[in-house]
Amino acid sequence: NSSKLPNVKTTIFTTVGNLARKHKALDLSQGFPNFEADPNLISLVNNAMMEGHNQYASMQGYFGLREVISEKIQTLHGHQYHPENELTITVGATQSIYTAISAFVHVGDEVIVLKPAYDCYEPAILVNGGKPVFLQLDAPDYSIDWEAFKAKITKKTKMLIINTPHNPSGKILSQNDMLWLQEILKDTNILVLSDEVYEHIVFDGQQHQSVSRFPDLAQRSFVCASFGKTFHVTGWKMGYCAAPKALMEEFRKVHQFAVFCVDHPVQRALAEYLKTPEHYLGLNDFYQRKRDLFLKGLAYSNFKFIPSQGTYFQLLDYTQITQESDEDFAKKLILEHKLASIPISSFNVNDRDDKVLRFCFAKKEETLERAVEILSSL
Ligand code: PMP
Ligand code: GLN
Repeated sequence: NSSKLPNVKTTIFTTVGNLARKHKALDLSQGFPNFEADPNLISLVNNAMMEGHNQYASMQGYFGLREVISEKIQTLHGHQYHPENELTITVGATQSIYTAISAFVHVGDEVIVLKPAYDCYEPAILVNGGKPVFLQLDAPDYSIDWEAFKAKITKKTKMLIINTPHNPSGKILSQNDMLWLQEILKDTNILVLSDEVYEHIVFDGQQHQSVSRFPDLAQRSFVCASFGKTFHVTGWKMGYCAAPKALMEEFRKVHQFAVFCVDHPVQRALAEYLKTPEHYLGLNDFYQRKRDLFLKGLAYSNFKFIPSQGTYFQLLDYTQITQESDEDFAKKLILEHKLASIPISSFNVNDRDDKVLRFCFAKKEETLERAVEILSSL
């Protein structure tokens, strides 16, 4: 068989999403909002089209958009990415992640991935001939043992992938975590791919610790971000990568031949919309209210949980209800109770089953209330 990815199957999001639709289940599985984006943002896209921005954008992305992103990062994290040569607009974070891996990982290079992990990292490493090296984190709190991380580093380590706020656990990395990481990597050439797609969804007054806040990390890092999460438009597939000039130069060599440039009118609209910081700064509270509504409803249920610290996902431990595998239990919830969630064993090393399910709370209040009703009956 000549497959470059013999073990890759259809993603859990597609499999569960299809099952949910077939059985008309309430869908808290794949991460996407079931409410609409701000109509003003949609009007801006329409305006951009009517104004004639319907041909190719520049290869690196519309300059006006790169400028506002640069200002946003400077204001929030105190680090300057030059819009000319340190920022590129991508087809969602997925392409940003793929391109960074593909531009830097050579055959035989090792890439450290912390598990559980979002599912797009590993295939990108493998298809480029790299070797994923996993560090499994443990339920229920999935904190990182930095000594164990250090032990995974070898002469072949090319890159490390981190994700904060973390999908699926809802864990955020603390300032201390970042300082540890910075210290461990100090005398190495290891690159960091920092998946920060949930950067604006952090709860309880905590602060998002972007790699860009730590100079020694920033100079070796790619920050991958997504407007889909921030503006409730996952279907627009619009994101970006921020990295120091030398890294970005190589990134763009791949980018220009994999996609060249991304949707022009949407970039124009986002550039305008991003000029108002309230459009993203209010997101923490917006999603914290949804998390709280969901968890308050489950306080007396048979599920155990640690409140999500960020993202729009909540893990629920179901061991007081059944000892079934997460895949079996998730399926039963869809078929018998019409509620869909994501079993996360496929995000763990060797499909380790922590007996938790992931629920997306980027949903209307009525959806969350109905989900709470179902879960409370179990
Ligand atoms: N990383 C993580 C952790 C995600 O949850 C997602 C969203 N599915 C992505 C990357 C991909 O983002 P995008 O949809 O913008 O490609
Ligand atoms: N990021 C979304 C999630 O975690 C899924 C996106 C996808 O289906 N690839 O649910």
